[in-house]
Amino acid sequence: MNKVFVTRQIPDIGLELLARECQLDVWPGELPPSRAELIEHIQPADGLLCLLSDRIDEEILQHAPSLKVISNYAVGFDNIDVAAATRRGIPVGNTPGVLTHATADFAFALLMAAARRVPEADRSVRAGQWKTWGPKTLLGADLYQATLGLIGFGRIGQAVAQRARGFDMRVLVYDPSFNPSDLPAGVQSVALDVLLSQSDFISLHVPLTPQTHHLINARAFEQMKPTAILVNTARGAVVDTAALYHALKSGQIASAALDVTDPEPLPADHPLLGLENLVIAPHIASASTATRDKMAVMAAENLLAGLNQ
Ligand code: NAD
Repeated sequence: MNKVFVTRQIPDIGLELLARECQLDVWPGELPPSRAELIEHIQPADGLLCLLSDRIDEEILQHAPSLKVISNYAVGFDNIDVAAATRRGIPVGNTPGVLTHATADFAFALLMAAARRVPEADRSVRAGQWKTWGPKTLLGADLYQATLGLIGFGRIGQAVAQRARGFDMRVLVYDPSFNPSDLPAGVQSVALDVLLSQSDFISLHVPLTPQTHHLINARAFEQMKPTAILVNTARGAVVDTAALYHALKSGQIASAALDVTDPEPLPADHPLLGLENLVIAPHIASASTATRDKMAVMAAENLLAGLNQ
């Protein structure tokens, strides 16, 4: 029987699929295994099912003589040295598609939370400040007929654009690989600097690659409106964290809403966490019950396909 190391307690539906055909070693902790623990548990494994927070690089693979397949429980796979796995003939799977709508929903949830300052309002009520509210307290930004700029127009970017239609938003996209003749009605393809300077909301939907690393840097913030709101559900390192802090602190942009950060997690004393005009979540854009079940099934099926090929 093939041995499979699963680096976290993924939903039961995925574990049950694997348990029918494999001997499972499921990491019991909430926190990821340390590097030493990963090395220890990967040693006898024929298959590895891992998460974004597990860095699978050359060194880890050197300790996995029997490994035949890696299945990532995520759409991205920037945590895995795919080239090193390929050199060893190890296929790498991911879970694209099934988390598109949950992630698009969450991008919109963050966008609206930042636009209408929901977390600030919540904090203020809990702090007993209700009585001090006046007509100019906690003023936010309208979505209706505002301009939304989407950087990356793949599955999730397109799903966000669908939602924006319901708010009658003008949608600009920047995605050099997207064929402009396939653009849906009401969506306009523009150069990056046009998107940055004209958008009221900017939402990131690109993978993390050498080209997108720090795509949103000090120069990009300089081009944004002072009222702009940045939403990042893509990857933390698409944004230069130091430049973001400066832009938020100095009022260069109005606010930001992040599901992903660089590093992840941010240290508890990170200056970003002291800013009122930041909404932050712990990388949970795909975390709906139904979506996580679908990801678990897909990741398990990918792993079994790799073992049985
Ligand atoms: P996708 O591959 O369907 O779309 C990505 C799009 O980005 C493509 O259309 C591509 O042409 C475009 N792109 C690539 N490089 C670009 C660049 N330099 N400038 C502009 N556009 C560029 O992927 P997807 O399913 O839409 O997911 C997008 C990303 O979202 C994933 O790679 C992942 O990193 C992230 N994600 C995060 C979460 C989360 O939990 N926060 C969940 C799912 C996906």
